[in-house]
Amino acid sequence: MFSSHVPIWSVSPQTVYETLATTSQGLTSSEATKRLKRYGFNELPEPPRRALWLRFTDQLTHFMALLLWTAGILAFISHTAQLGWAIWAVIWINAIFSFWQDYQAEQALAALKKVLPAQVQVYRDGQLNIIPAKELVPGDVMQLEQGDRISADARLVADESFYVDVSVLTGESLPIARHSRMIRPRQVVPLRNGKTLLYEGETPQQERVQPADIANLVLAGSTVANGRATAVVYATGAHTEFGEVAHLTTTVRRETSTLEIQVGRIVRVITAIALTMGIIVFVLTSVFVGMEVTESFTFAIGIIVALVPEGLLPTVTLALAIGVQRMARRNALVRRLSAVESLSATTVICTDKTGTLTKNEMTVRYLWIPHTSIEVTGEGYNSTGKVNFPTDANVHQAVELLLGTSALCSNARLLQPSSSGGWQELGDPTEAALLVVALKAGLNLENLHQQCPRHREIPFDSRRRMMSVVLEWQDSWGLTSEFLGVTKGAPLEVLRHCHQFWHNGQCQDLTEVERLQITTTNDEFASQGFRVLAVALHWGDRELLNMTSQGLEQDLVFLGLIAMFDPPRPEVEAALQACHQAGIAVTMVTGDYSLTAKAIACQIGLVREQPRVVTGEEMGHLSDAQLRQVLHHHTELVFARMSPEHKLRLVQAYKDLGHIVAVTGDGVNDAPALRAANIGIAMGRGGTDVAREAADIVLLDDNFATIVSAIQQGRGVYQNIRKFITYILSSNVAEVVPFLAMVVLKIPPALMIMQILAVDLGTDLIPALALGAEPPERGLMRQFPRSRSKSLLDRSLLLRAYGFLGLLEASAAMIGFFSVWWSQGYQLNDLQDLSPLILAHQSDPSTMVIYSQATTLTLATILACQDGNVFACRSERLSIFQIGFFNNPLIWLGIGVKWVLMLSIIYLSPLATIFFTTPLTTWQWLMLLIWPPLILTAEELRKRIVYHNGKNSP
Ligand code: ADP
Ligand code: MG
Repeated sequence: MFSSHVPIWSVSPQTVYETLATTSQGLTSSEATKRLKRYGFNELPEPPRRALWLRFTDQLTHFMALLLWTAGILAFISHTAQLGWAIWAVIWINAIFSFWQDYQAEQALAALKKVLPAQVQVYRDGQLNIIPAKELVPGDVMQLEQGDRISADARLVADESFYVDVSVLTGESLPIARHSRMIRPRQVVPLRNGKTLLYEGETPQQERVQPADIANLVLAGSTVANGRATAVVYATGAHTEFGEVAHLTTTVRRETSTLEIQVGRIVRVITAIALTMGIIVFVLTSVFVGMEVTESFTFAIGIIVALVPEGLLPTVTLALAIGVQRMARRNALVRRLSAVESLSATTVICTDKTGTLTKNEMTVRYLWIPHTSIEVTGEGYNSTGKVNFPTDANVHQAVELLLGTSALCSNARLLQPSSSGGWQELGDPTEAALLVVALKAGLNLENLHQQCPRHREIPFDSRRRMMSVVLEWQDSWGLTSEFLGVTKGAPLEVLRHCHQFWHNGQCQDLTEVERLQITTTNDEFASQGFRVLAVALHWGDRELLNMTSQGLEQDLVFLGLIAMFDPPRPEVEAALQACHQAGIAVTMVTGDYSLTAKAIACQIGLVREQPRVVTGEEMGHLSDAQLRQVLHHHTELVFARMSPEHKLRLVQAYKDLGHIVAVTGDGVNDAPALRAANIGIAMGRGGTDVAREAADIVLLDDNFATIVSAIQQGRGVYQNIRKFITYILSSNVAEVVPFLAMVVLKIPPALMIMQILAVDLGTDLIPALALGAEPPERGLMRQFPRSRSKSLLDRSLLLRAYGFLGLLEASAAMIGFFSVWWSQGYQLNDLQDLSPLILAHQSDPSTMVIYSQATTLTLATILACQDGNVFACRSERLSIFQIGFFNNPLIWLGIGVKWVLMLSIIYLSPLATIFFTTPLTTWQWLMLLIWPPLILTAEELRKRIVYHNGKNSP
């Protein structure tokens, strides 16, 4: 981007700053703004999307539409132009509606993209800031840490055990090392963007060296697999080498969910049934009823069109999208639409402890050096508390050494005190707590950092559970040395590497007695739920700088313990209770010590007194079969000292047992477990970019309770889909029965084909949509998870829709039809005599008026029944009095629109002709009023009998 004759990788770090006109302090904000104007945002133009009109055309040309086009043509050929037009109208109405729903769903998902913008740590005005990645400009100095996604092309200027994962870019799956040293140029290399590079590098044999192979560059799209580094941005946005790839992964994916596939299959099955029915009706009417071929053909097509649930699939997609939108409002960002369905079936949640069940606000409560325990007061990141130093000068010095060295072995930073009085922490809360306690003890952190500059770091990783730094040491607190290695980490791990301890200003050999004392103290702290860190030292001269990492963390001198508390999140207890009621098992999986984990698990009510605690070490000894046994037989499980590999095994074992597993994760190494789980859940605040990209769901507030509310929403969506399918299927029965009656009773059809279309593509649409947007119903979290093998359209749904609600509506409709004839003095046998005349269009006009009024009342009765049905469908089990009538305004809108449509069909004369309607009498209108309460009451009784509602109502 900066046109310079020397390639950026061929100069020293100092020259990098000059070349890109920046400093090690970063750019000033004003300069950054200027560059942002000049180079634009660090983002790529949106990939061209399929034009809207093309997507609309798709809706007119898919399989079902083609089928209908053909049917329409056949109708024209068979001289039933009216039907032909009607069928074509169906295609258009359907296309418009589907297109609209599809578009709404897409808009909802697109809006989510903005919820969690990618962020980077950048030096601006000499301060480390977190800014949106799209505001990066050339010259920005970035701080990169394990798990970060690299958002622009940059040259490294400082590194600590730095490895990047470039698998997204080149397919290379192993992390590769990157360093900040300059590379001397010799060979000419042409670059993709037309420029040339001179390259010698570490791989001189290669003919063409890709920028991805240059060892001091990091490219947009890769991620940090390990270590830390500082890098200077030299290309952003469209100027980066692999920008496109980086862009792809941040978007919310909309792949077809299994649910949509399932519904698609259902639609096909119903279509097949409809076709068969159509053919049967055709044969029956033309052969047995003796209808003319064109007439019976008309009926056949009518039946097919009536039964095919055209609008089902787009309504499902929209219902899913609405669910996703609601979850986002409750801090759960769904990255894959299919996650909604898995959520609704979740049976086990494997959750992290730190940050998810707890607040991730560490406060140091106790310090311990051999033989002495010291209390620390104060809460949170607030330096108002104090360290209760004992009077003994030696102890005082040792405690200061403990606090000073641990603060220097920390990468967190405290920002300006916020208005609430506490500090704002940046980085790992465990480390921030160390800084806060150092402040409480009166140490001057800034001076400390200046006096003892850090020369080396071995970053923390969740397998070693330790972190070390090498400092240039200023003799202080009774310790003389040129350089000083400081190691902090899990006490037992650190202690294993110690052979001496620091006492009374000197080193003493660690005997078994002291070791035992240290471990018992550790256990005492841990059983109160404290996270304990041990600090140990390694002193020496320059050799510390070149020693292997293992060597540096060997032969340590034990200094002391630091016990910190991370309060449980208050809302977690209720959330756990909810899981319990909902039949969802919760298993704690943590890297923390077993006693700490157990104590916290008890405090939040996850387990009672005697949980089964499995440590990572123990899990190493268990075979897969044994592990499954443990999972099968224990409900109260805590997994402690787990590594990411253990987590993966655990997820696998649960899945093998047939569970639907949701697992949380935040680190780079959690990615495999997140992918393996049915639902991977990453943290939006505390987690890494890598984990977020592997996850199906991101918790914007890192809170366990959010998972539970997402599950509730997921279950709600799944139920809503069943609700509107039930609603639509019931009216289909009422639409088909008139034709069956025609064949069986030899009477004229009680419903016209155009009238069927009026229901399916007019009056039923909005109420169905309203059911798709229902809020999750009460008691949803008191049912057990549905079994995954159960299909969406199971027997109970079909029986209820077809066998109960549908039959009721059909009976009502037929009663409506007959009542008109009876009121005019016609009995069944009169009607049977009239039938051939009516079908042959040879009856007299006065009969036709009665007939038309009878069909109008049939139609109106179906609509009235559907008004009751929409409330019946609001819950599969609950009484409408538990749900309420007025808490979904969309339903009332649907009902209103429906009757306006109905009135226009009846009273607007051209429409009345097309739809074959005649005005109803006042009595007939009044008679309609009984149907909604009747259907609803029948359904209430059914629910009461089947689910014993009222007795143990949830
Ligand atoms: P968790 O599952 O609670 O997030 P971690 O993997 O972060 O567990 O930590 C595991 C253990 O490693 C902790 O119990 C602690 O002893 C130690 N530890 C955690 N963070 C640090 C750190 N920043 N430096 C040194 N040790 C740490
Ligand atoms: Mg952690």
